[in-house]
Amino acid sequence: MKRRTIFWFRRDLRLADNPALLAAIAESDEFLPLFIMDDAIAKRAGEHRRAYLAASLSALNASLEGNLHVISGSPARVLKELIDRHQISAVHVAADFAPYGVARDKKIETAGIILTKTGSAYAVAPGRVRKSDETPYRVYTPFFRGWSTHGWRAPVLAPKKLHLISPKDGDQHIPSWLVPRGSHLQEAGEKAALRRWHEFQESALSDYDTARNIPGMAGTSRLSPHLRWGEIHPRTILASLNDSKAHEVFRKEIAWREFYADVLHHNPHTSREYYAPRFAKMRYEPATKKFQEWCDGKTGYPFVDAAMRQLIQTGWMHNRARMVVASFLTKDLHIEWQHGANFFMKYLIDNDVASNSHGWQWTAGCGTDASPYYRVFNPVEQGRRFDPEGAYIKEYLPELRHLSNEFIHEPWLASDGYSHGYPTRIVDHSVERLESLARLEEIKVVEPI
Ligand SMILES: Cc1cc2nc3c(=O)[nH]c(=O)nc-3n(C[C@H](O)[C@H](O)[C@H](O)COP(=O)(O)OP(=O)(O)OC[C@H]3O[C@@H](n4cnc5c(N)ncnc54)[C@H](O)[C@@H]3O)c2cc1C
Repeated sequence: MKRRTIFWFRRDLRLADNPALLAAIAESDEFLPLFIMDDAIAKRAGEHRRAYLAASLSALNASLEGNLHVISGSPARVLKELIDRHQISAVHVAADFAPYGVARDKKIETAGIILTKTGSAYAVAPGRVRKSDETPYRVYTPFFRGWSTHGWRAPVLAPKKLHLISPKDGDQHIPSWLVPRGSHLQEAGEKAALRRWHEFQESALSDYDTARNIPGMAGTSRLSPHLRWGEIHPRTILASLNDSKAHEVFRKEIAWREFYADVLHHNPHTSREYYAPRFAKMRYEPATKKFQEWCDGKTGYPFVDAAMRQLIQTGWMHNRARMVVASFLTKDLHIEWQHGANFFMKYLIDNDVASNSHGWQWTAGCGTDASPYYRVFNPVEQGRRFDPEGAYIKEYLPELRHLSNEFIHEPWLASDGYSHGYPTRIVDHSVERLESLARLEEIKVVEPI
């Protein structure tokens, strides 16, 4: 009798550098490639992410010669049914460390299905890098040192031959979710990921340390959606980096992703709750009209609005811009970070609960290794410094394209600043900065002498 296994694709929609897939193949004469369209995935994702996922599944299916099983329903039920129908001997996966994935896998294992886990979506699995006293790191820089010393395995090749179980009627529901009208998303799939990585190495990696902060330039890799869906593994990326300054800075960014996954692994409640609990007691404003204006990119601050419209149009936002809009929401509008994080999670095609929740908490000042809590980004100065020519603003805000560099960051100073329908400022930054500092003062912990 033929030995049969399932390989369940989750955050690893690729064939190359996929040790868990190789394990499923090594243990079988033929294997069943599976993606389960869990209700939670379909319901939580906004239109952008759904469209990206549909495209990524189509690409994966093409690599699997049209044999990807895509079945909707509860994972335990889908797995049980396939195990019985095909006399499956083992279900192989890469370990998932996000709180939702951990709970889902526990439920499946409680239902009596054993998941054989090999590897994870990280170079070093969350929980592995620890301080000398075996406690987890709480600060990034020492984590980075510990992570570098720990090291990681070399990438593995894609399987040479695939002996696949073909889907029967009804077992291949690849959704036809389309990109929302007026939006354009980057290409999904393993081939697109590898192409992007090679192009970035050729064109921008050597200048990464200087160009990565300029949202109007193609100075960053835009690999985050590919990493999110596992269309490329971080090991593949790390293996090509050398010791130059630009490469080192890039390696450090990859390490931020690993750090936040580690922090969330040890503190799963921080996907929604404050890492520094005293911030829960701060005075906040409800997420009403001004929140909606922030979501719509209509705050009247050009750098903030360009960023929010980039998110809505492309499902992605530059890191510098993410910090500025997050600071604006939490410190100029005094709205709790979770509202912004939820909005990001709905739109981002690279949505990652660890990087998102902790990116927000870092900016709000309540997270790990936080920027000094009293730092409030000035949205005008950030624009002048990181978008000096206004290229980013002009790309996303047609209402301001007529303005010169002098006025584009402060349309209120130009006589025709509002002539094309750009909204006026919803708050005065200089006033709200002081208000923010006053609210922070109220929860300040006085250290005992
Ligand atoms: C408020 C806020 C929310 C964020 N939400 C997410 C999210 O949901 N998903 C996500 O992948 N990243 C998130 N980030 C981190 C960062 O903004 C993105 O990873 C980065 O902009 C992706 O673009 P890139 O691939 O061109 O990055 P590059 O600059 O090319 O960096 C390479 C890779 O390093 C990792 N990386 C870079 N910067 C960070 C960082 N600050 N934190 C964690 N990993 C990083 C990413 O995997 C990225 O793809 C968030 C940051 C902030 C401030």
